[in-house]
Amino acid sequence: MAAATEQPLSELEAFERQVAGCTRCRLAEGRTQVVFGVGDPQADLMFVGEAPGFHEDKQGYPFVGQAGKLLDKLLAGIGLERGDVYIANTVKCRPPGNRDPQPDEKQACEPYLFRQIELSRPKVIATLGNHATKQLSGKETGITRVHGQPQRLNVGALAVLLYPLYHPAAALYTPAMFKVLEEDFARLPELLGAPVPEPTPVVPLLAPPPVPEPTVQLGLF
Ligand code: URA
Ligand code: SF4
Repeated sequence: MAAATEQPLSELEAFERQVAGCTRCRLAEGRTQVVFGVGDPQADLMFVGEAPGFHEDKQGYPFVGQAGKLLDKLLAGIGLERGDVYIANTVKCRPPGNRDPQPDEKQACEPYLFRQIELSRPKVIATLGNHATKQLSGKETGITRVHGQPQRLNVGALAVLLYPLYHPAAALYTPAMFKVLEEDFARLPELLGAPVPEPTPVVPLLAPPPVPEPTVQLGLF
């Protein structure tokens, strides 16, 4: 029998439990666990990264490695901490050897991301790097061209602002990139205060047919 103090599961938590056993794609084979998401499910700001890496796979939370430390620093720069935002990835299981997630893996996992968005109803979705940006924008334009430019986006019935950012890991290899990230992050408070925009492109809740993509590594920028 459940203890009297036990809280009922939120819809998002119940959904997380369902996804924990997922075997929809081959990434299930090598993972330690599904890395679903972390933070405040009611947050106005949601970050979407690429895929769990070594530490994320071990600990079960997104962005707990080196790139995560940079993300924490960037958040601190605008007066936020990770408990104030929600963080997820395009795929929930670690690709072997941290390779890029493949198109069929992203497609298999995409409905989970859309459901997370639908349940947490963010105002702004900040995509980190090429994978998340291309997947959510539905466009092939790379992050170098679109970073720091808010776009209107409809996810199902939900109107959100998509705000593409460089992946923080880019700043691990190219320190000058940290400054660009800081500048782009600096606009987030204003975007979070802005009214929800009129939607333009429509992203259906169910995964669309796969967009043909090059199988080469996309790189971080
Ligand atoms: N990089 C990502 O894209 N996601 C993580 O969770 C960690 C590193
Ligand atoms: Fe399922 Fe996504 Fe993990 Fe693939 S990556 S097994 S679709 S949770």
